[in-house]
Amino acid sequence: MGEIRAPLTILPGIGPSLAASLARLAGGPTLRHLLLHMPDSTVDRRERPRLAAARPGRIVTLEVEVMRHDKPRNRAQPWRVVVTDGSAFADIVLFHQARLGQMPVGAKLVVSGKLERFADKLTLPHPDYVLPVARAAEMPAIEPVWPLTAGVTNRLVGRAMAGALARLPEFPEWIEPSLLARRRWTGFAASLRRVQAPDADDAAREAARTRLAYDELLAEQVALGLRRAARRARPGRSLRGDGHLRAEALARFGFQPTPSQTRALSEIDADMAAARPMLRLLQGDVGSGKTLVALLAMLRAAEAGAQAALMAPTELLVQQHFRTLSALSPVTIGLLTGSVPAAERRAVLRGLADGSIPLVIGTHALFQKHVEFRDLGLAVIDEQHRFGVEQRVSLGDKGAATDVLVMTATPIPRSLRLTQYGEMDVSKLTEKPRGRGPVRTTIHPIGALPEVIAGLARALDRGARIYWVCPLVSESEALDLSAAEDRFAMLGKRFGPAVGLAHGQQDARLREAALADFAAGRTRLLVATTVVEVGVDVPEATVMVIEHAERFGLAQLHQLRGRVGRGAAESFCLLLHEDGLAPVAQARLTLLRDTQDGFEIADADFRLRGHGDVTGTKQSGLPGYRLANVAEQEALREVAAKDATMLLDGDPTLRSARGRAADILLRLFDKEDSVRGLVGG
Ligand code: ADP
Ligand code: MG
Repeated sequence: MGEIRAPLTILPGIGPSLAASLARLAGGPTLRHLLLHMPDSTVDRRERPRLAAARPGRIVTLEVEVMRHDKPRNRAQPWRVVVTDGSAFADIVLFHQARLGQMPVGAKLVVSGKLERFADKLTLPHPDYVLPVARAAEMPAIEPVWPLTAGVTNRLVGRAMAGALARLPEFPEWIEPSLLARRRWTGFAASLRRVQAPDADDAAREAARTRLAYDELLAEQVALGLRRAARRARPGRSLRGDGHLRAEALARFGFQPTPSQTRALSEIDADMAAARPMLRLLQGDVGSGKTLVALLAMLRAAEAGAQAALMAPTELLVQQHFRTLSALSPVTIGLLTGSVPAAERRAVLRGLADGSIPLVIGTHALFQKHVEFRDLGLAVIDEQHRFGVEQRVSLGDKGAATDVLVMTATPIPRSLRLTQYGEMDVSKLTEKPRGRGPVRTTIHPIGALPEVIAGLARALDRGARIYWVCPLVSESEALDLSAAEDRFAMLGKRFGPAVGLAHGQQDARLREAALADFAAGRTRLLVATTVVEVGVDVPEATVMVIEHAERFGLAQLHQLRGRVGRGAAESFCLLLHEDGLAPVAQARLTLLRDTQDGFEIADADFRLRGHGDVTGTKQSGLPGYRLANVAEQEALREVAAKDATMLLDGDPTLRSARGRAADILLRLFDKEDSVRGLVGG
């Protein structure tokens, strides 16, 4: 990697404070980070028209002679430098007198900038470049435009980039030679130069950009392959059971598992019985019954004499699981969260350490070092996207060879799944438990609020239980909260004590009480923020109103909608949106109205929004790509996956020449740490 691991401050003219700004921009403090800070567009200065024929509104480069300087009449006015190329006149407009020195009367100059027409005159307001004709070569014909930040100009990035490029070594090639030849790709360093300091060859620049995008995906796929191999190499253990605990739990539950629950369980059983660690993703739409599968898997561990832990991302969700599972489980379940009182907590910790508590449910409190298990056989992780990969692994590390089951309610598009969960096996719950119809979804402008409320009044008269969700926009929690409180006050005035309020800023006990009141039917209209998004299970609730639905991700709306339609009765979801909705936003809500299939919705959301926020949660933890754009990822990733597999099959420890090159690639893209973390953990 050589010099490109050096800090940005080794570049001439870059002191500590500029380096800090650049580092913020580039996502890291070294030349390597800067080199991978990609331009998002280019300015083309090749258009060199005669002034008489020039079109305003374009970036042009002109060769002109300075005729005279027109002094401003007052201080609010700019200086005007009148120039000509012999075909017509134009005014260079300057707000800084200092630049006049660059353009003395009679000078022959090359100037470049955006040409405008103002009051029937051609003008060049503060041009980007003003150079004597003899130094015209200093102006790049194609100029990259980088994403910028306060205190960093494009010119500055360009200068720093030139310095970094000068220190960029040639790396050995990591791309498979025949692929390289077929695509006519140049080497990494040459490709990076083509993108960061482009010449006029547009096609070559595009090819170079594609190569770099491929490099990024190849790094990802090699890292994934290494992770997978490391997992396979870990010793596992065989967990088998006689089914007596399961049978008891199912008897209490009173329903048979659905066909896909049964299939998922037999896949899980086979993994647990095998003498290698399980790493399985249980993917199932909201309400598909993942919790039951989790419990039955945990009981299998208990039958085998081992312990099992279920971890969920929020206190609320943990409480919910604890209630549901305690009612069904024939064995003790411990509860471990931040709010469990100290004495109780000590008792649970003791029980986990001596094995007298076979099952436990908790938040990330379960991760903590001092939590010891006598024999943790299975870790189940719910709503995995809210945890980091490292945390997922660290719970698995609580026991030698612990099996890991990850549950996600957010269907993930196939292309992302390859990336995020590529090392996992997948089980899917494809149907809902019997008797559950689609949630009838309708769309209303907020202007129709009076009619919506009248409709709710009728539903309440018939005994309905209703969620009213106000969005958390998170720019200001205080504002969000006051919106929810205003709505609560307004609905409370109309419907009296039947209205409850639950939100994330509330004292946990108050919120619990509000949810419990709603679950028990003491309140029947619950105004809430997205705290009800996951885990809240009130089968009697049949109506969900979502205010400002246009502010949510589709996947999140779908998740919310899944809070109703959990019983046998027909259910409704009303999407309220601000008046004058943009067509794209309208299209998104319409899609949700017409589709109940979470997988289809996730794919559509992915296409409509880009992958950055596919889960509809800010904490999504999905990868950001520096180079590869969404459109090209899928096709390139398939190639990269094959290439990585071939490389690792032949050279699993990266010892060959190409393997060592690939190791450099991993380090270029910050993949070596995640690999080491997983391999070492
Ligand atoms: P998920 O966690 O996948 O969103 P849940 O596990 O909360 O879904 O299940 C949704 C609802 O369906 C719950 O009320 C649960 O009791 C019920 N349920 C789960 N499996 C079955 C089944 N096999 N038969 C009938 N009801 C079921
Ligand atoms: Mg399991």
